[in-house]
Amino acid sequence: MKRICIYPGSFDPVTNGHMDIIKRSAAMFDELIVAVLKNNSKTPLFSSEERVNMLKEVTKDISNVKVDSFSGLLVDYADKVGACTIVRGLRAVTDFEYELQMAQTNRIMNKRVDTIFLTTSLDYAYLSSSIVREVAVCGGSVDKFVPEYVSDMIGKKLEFTQGGN
Ligand code: ADP
Repeated sequence: MKRICIYPGSFDPVTNGHMDIIKRSAAMFDELIVAVLKNNSKTPLFSSEERVNMLKEVTKDISNVKVDSFSGLLVDYADKVGACTIVRGLRAVTDFEYELQMAQTNRIMNKRVDTIFLTTSLDYAYLSSSIVREVAVCGGSVDKFVPEYVSDMIGKKLEFTQGGN
């Protein structure tokens, strides 16, 4: 049986920290589905379609990675795609409480799906999509934080939304 893992998140935008988790978890499973959460209450920088397209571009060289989007319950999505595992990244203890609560809730709702955690590489422990957005909006370079393609897309998006300022 094919072992399928889901890496869910907002990915607004995908960062080098996410890429690290994608590469490491793809190596552990037959297939990794990077799943963009669609119904996010926050106002995103990128639409879910744009986030999916960026993820497809930056993961195109990893043969067992697929990119998709979902809404509703993650455990229902896991059943739909036949996944047995959810992977999440842990950066610091501040991530832990929420992640533990989510993992336990998901486990109670669906015993067929387990959550595993990968601790972030120290190089990326500080990195979050929201920090990347803040730096970019203030005119800073995000080249050290995201893949080159994503940095270009952020540049284009801000040029469009800020009228080139
Ligand atoms: P969410 O809004 O669901 O937290 P994110 O896109 O912010 O979605 O993050 C998706 C997952 O990636 C989460 O498990 C998060 O902890 C993890 N993650 C985010 N940034 C990093 C990073 N720098 N290193 C490792 N994991 C990370």
